Amino acid sequence: MSHEHISVTEDLFRYMRNVSLREPEVLRRLREETGQMPEMTMQTMAEQCQLMALLAGSIGARRTIEVGVFTGYSALWTALALPQDGYILACDISEKWTSIGHRYWREAGVEHKIDLRLAPALETLDAVLANGAEGSFDFAYIDADKANYGNYYERVLKLLRPRGLILFDNVLWSGKVADENEQDSDTVALRAFNSKLAGDARVDMSMLPIGDGLTIACKR
Ligand code: CA
Repeated sequence: MSHEHISVTEDLFRYMRNVSLREPEVLRRLREETGQMPEMTMQTMAEQCQLMALLAGSIGARRTIEVGVFTGYSALWTALALPQDGYILACDISEKWTSIGHRYWREAGVEHKIDLRLAPALETLDAVLANGAEGSFDFAYIDADKANYGNYYERVLKLLRPRGLILFDNVLWSGKVADENEQDSDTVALRAFNSKLAGDARVDMSMLPIGDGLTIACKR
């Protein structure tokens, strides 16, 4: 075992979950319902969402962006971390998936914080930018089509205030980014995105091997 990182076995993962996950019951039920779906691997892991909620809460986030909502699990974690007048600009194209989240958002009493926009996210972000929202958001989570990560990043960076945070999911893409034999379009896009961010002086950043890989960037 390397001295620089620990391998997370199933036993160790269960231990970690037992001693650290504080998942509200409504979130557990949403996670379990999503777990029955064929697309369940698209759901962000619980510990990662807890980290996201912790970060959003710790910077006092009031206005956040989510690109890629799926069944609304991460949006619900974030919504619960925001104050009563908090706001989430939630972008997705699937009525079917987001309608599952809607039921739980309502039940948890945070539906009023989540502004779901069913349209391609680039259109929504461009429209919000055109309406003068530059610099008005505190926090963003990007977890949608990998080919557009670079495009989402450029728009979200404008929308964030200085010291605002952007989190990117799936940056390690099951490890494929490190294997040059993997040349499918998503892997190539993520590899390019990771390299771009590594040298981007507009942000401070950290990449974590949690879930499928998470990068946290802070706007300078
Ligand atoms: Ca994801």
